[in-house]
Amino acid sequence: MTFYGVRGSTPCPCEANRRYGANTACVAVEVPGEDPIVFDVGTGLRFWGERLPQDGSFHGTALVTHLHWDHVQGLPFFVPIDRPGATFDIYGPTPDNADNIEDALCKFMQPPYFPIRPTDLRGDIRFHDVNDDEFKIGRARVVSRLVPHLGPTNGYRVDWDGFSVAYISDHQAPVGLNSVPDSVLEIADGVDLLIHDAQYRDDEWDKKSHWGHCTVDYAVFVAKEAGARRLALFHHDPAHGDDELDHLLESARARGAEAGAGEVLSACEGTTISFERP
Ligand SMILES: [Zn+2]
Ligand SMILES: [Zn+2]
Repeated sequence: MTFYGVRGSTPCPCEANRRYGANTACVAVEVPGEDPIVFDVGTGLRFWGERLPQDGSFHGTALVTHLHWDHVQGLPFFVPIDRPGATFDIYGPTPDNADNIEDALCKFMQPPYFPIRPTDLRGDIRFHDVNDDEFKIGRARVVSRLVPHLGPTNGYRVDWDGFSVAYISDHQAPVGLNSVPDSVLEIADGVDLLIHDAQYRDDEWDKKSHWGHCTVDYAVFVAKEAGARRLALFHHDPAHGDDELDHLLESARARGAEAGAGEVLSACEGTTISFERP
């Protein structure tokens, strides 16, 4: 599993963000011999595409949490799907104000907002609306659950060859930061890795408690409550530079150790995590 984009909200390239990376949400999960799955198609998608076949032989699946810009802006720059013969299955929640996810995404990606439409890409993009659902992709079993954010938003759990990953990129926590919705506990239950929203510091919460996200400590709380073996802090705030993210990780680890949570790490662009049983 490789992080290609770990930021929330907007790409934020600058010297202060060099180590953790500046691209928005995109996490690829790859199993030898199977077609890959990617969580979200933010701006990191372009970099994943550079490592994939560009001869029309690409077949893959995207599990998109929702259609906010930071989760979809990489799609037009994904070269593997701009080749005849390639296929890309895009799953995501049915948005408000649209009949289905295809309709909504095609409204976003068309002139005058962007010069081409999804149908102008030469491969075959197939859209699937999923909300509270369970389905299979190859050997992987996927559970999607609506989670609190701003507008319909999915969290996903993927169980694949005996390993499990939960991806909850955007999570509106309760103001008191003191409870976890059943939908979140269900998909994160005992996972090998939970990738979770960690947008704010505690001192930012007062002002931003209704902006659709949560604090770093809340991510640790979710991981503990769900019994996740490892937690990856994700959806970093664009204004949190590398040194600050180091510091937030350190304090999250201390908080996790105190609470008896599993291992805590911080998602960093370009990092690959391998899943192997001893
Ligand atoms: Zn987001
Ligand atoms: Zn969002």
